[in-house]
Amino acid sequence: MNREIKDTPVPEKFADLARESLGEENAEVLIRTLSEGIPVVSIRVNGWKAARIAGNADEGDSSGIMSAAQSFFPDRALRRVPWCGEGFYLSGRPVFTLDPLFHAGAYYVQDASSMFLELIREAVERYEKSFWSRPLRLLDLCAAPGGKSTQLAGFMGPEGILVCNEVIRSRAGILAENMARWGNPNVLVTDNDPRDFSVLGEYFDLILADAPCSGEGMFRKDSGACGEWSLENVKLCAGRQQRILSDIWGALKPGGYFVYSTCTFNRLENDGALDFLEKELGAELLEVFPSQEPAYGIVRTERGGYQFVPGLVEGEGQFFALLRKPSEKGGRADGVKERGPCGKRKNKYAVAECPYVSPGYMLVTAGDLLKAYPSGQAEEMKFLESRLNCIYSGVAVAQIKGKDYVPHPDLAFSRALRQEAFFTVEVSREDALKFLSRETLHFPEAPAGYVLLAYRGAGLGFVKNIGNRSNNLYPAARRIRMDINRA
Ligand code: SAM
Repeated sequence: MNREIKDTPVPEKFADLARESLGEENAEVLIRTLSEGIPVVSIRVNGWKAARIAGNADEGDSSGIMSAAQSFFPDRALRRVPWCGEGFYLSGRPVFTLDPLFHAGAYYVQDASSMFLELIREAVERYEKSFWSRPLRLLDLCAAPGGKSTQLAGFMGPEGILVCNEVIRSRAGILAENMARWGNPNVLVTDNDPRDFSVLGEYFDLILADAPCSGEGMFRKDSGACGEWSLENVKLCAGRQQRILSDIWGALKPGGYFVYSTCTFNRLENDGALDFLEKELGAELLEVFPSQEPAYGIVRTERGGYQFVPGLVEGEGQFFALLRKPSEKGGRADGVKERGPCGKRKNKYAVAECPYVSPGYMLVTAGDLLKAYPSGQAEEMKFLESRLNCIYSGVAVAQIKGKDYVPHPDLAFSRALRQEAFFTVEVSREDALKFLSRETLHFPEAPAGYVLLAYRGAGLGFVKNIGNRSNNLYPAARRIRMDINRA
């Protein structure tokens, strides 16, 4: 039965397990913070869009990123998230739905602890210089709604491919929408069970498994999560995590990196999974910090994983660990053959032409949809589409209607957009919100035809200007439903 311990509302068995998992002192901080604290608000900026919006920053320029982020929230005090150059804490919670930059994918609202991937990026680069500039094949196995996928997408060079997978179909749709807003063209979204990836053989250079867990790190954000906690569920989650790990391990290349994470605090799910990875799957656990001690107040667990503990760090709970698959090839137990080297397939797809897309992309028709793939990755992305249950890939460019190419809403967000192809109207915040609510707008200064609307330089979508009014092409399913006059 759940009952209060001391003056805290957390379940007693949760508190006991926290003490076993984190040590007495850390657990007391956690329990106190979970019962008293209010979650902090943080965002992670989309580097390439911020650079464009601010007009004064390179993608990797940290002071430029800071001033861009500050310009997104002029009424808020911003502080850097210490472990992530693109992460910022905000003083208070804005109504994000009423910020056009949120809809444009200029930033992602994300718990600061979840931004730990930056630490992984640095660690992997220490193990293998120039790792991130290689033509990587990355998998985010449990990806919806897309917080970590958007961060991973920013790590890849232009020759990389990121597969963002989500087994629950309805959540995969949200994931696809978030990835479209983020704007990277070398991304696929799939809706597969982890075991389906065995068709690819040992394919990925890095796999992230942000596993479904008992969600103890959500206690402050969602009081229901606290009420639903039970030891039985923790054990159930631990068993499911181990099944997921066995199912996906074969898809990692020998020598490839594996990131395991959860948003929970207990050793059964966290250290238990590391134990399983090492003993059953032969994974090698790696250090994430250059000196063995973790930085930023992050706690090292007994088994060698890393734990964000609210109260010791500014953020919610998150556990993470970096592992590697041994390089020696042992041959696969399941008899799946490894494919030959990537990128050697012949270009056998129909190629179309369309001025809406920058050079360097291959255009392909899929029914009446015109899509673009980065030329160098097109064949590999089509191969992945053929093997997986892919619901999104590359960039949706246009709907083909006879001789007319109706620009697709996703194109407005994408790096692939050739902006000169469209007359662009820079809209006010008020008009941006009207557009995002699918209201009809009037642009007398714009020529007839398709017009791109931008807010502070970030693409929002298209209208078809027909003289005295325009047709709003923003998708009905994405429209803002709240009262925009609250803005
Ligand atoms: N990585 C996401 C992010 O940063 O936005 C959060 C992922 S959430 C912690 C875990 C995800 O795993 C959920 O989207 C859930 O639907 C998915 N999931 C649930 N059961 C699963 C299973 N058996 N195999 C793989 N994924 C599963």
